[in-house]
Amino acid sequence: MFVVGLTGGIGSGKTTVSQRFEHHGIVVVDADTIAREVVAPGSEGLKKITAHFGPQILLANGSLDRQALRKIIFSNESERRWLESLTHPLIRTEIEARIQAAPGPYTILSAPLLLESGHYNVNRVLIVDLPVVEQITRASARDNADRRMIEKIIASQLPRTERLKHADDIVDNAGSLEQTLYQVDALHLRYLQLADITLN
Ligand code: ATP
Repeated sequence: MFVVGLTGGIGSGKTTVSQRFEHHGIVVVDADTIAREVVAPGSEGLKKITAHFGPQILLANGSLDRQALRKIIFSNESERRWLESLTHPLIRTEIEARIQAAPGPYTILSAPLLLESGHYNVNRVLIVDLPVVEQITRASARDNADRRMIEKIIASQLPRTERLKHADDIVDNAGSLEQTLYQVDALHLRYLQLADITLN
């Protein structure tokens, strides 16, 4: 399968771009969604986490108390490693399975930390790009979140110039929505061609 890794900073437009690929019938595998699913209520992942940290890691409704977990792993390196050694293989296996199951001719793997985590295997990297000022404006307008929180998240991600160095393709999302969709449509045609050349 020909896989295009899609990434970009918070609020850059990854969802907007993903939805356009889906509109063309392309399967988008979302790493964030899978990361939540592998620790959802009833999952093996959540059972192991509960066995390790105790039932106080659960909220009253039986779902994972992410805030409590974050507190533990930010202050305890070995607990963080334990958690990652549990969740990363589960996430990777599920991502692989969904990519294998996708009808093609190519698949998009959307992962906010595609470049930071360094363990995704993709044929091509597509970056959705937006100046930081615009990222802050759009992300805070959408989430009703305060700017300081958004700025913190941006600071924890790769700087824009670093991210762009990894790009095979770039969607410039600073313009209108129409301009963005136009770029995605052109990329879709390009990926059909590249998948055909690579796989046949
Ligand atoms: P996150 O990383 O926070 O999940 P994202 O990268 O998925 O964000 P989107 O949710 O697609 O980003 O876009 C962020 C916000 O900006 C949304 O409210 C979206 O509707 C808006 N937006 C996306 N593209 C444009 C555009 N070209 N012009 C104006 N607004 C846009």
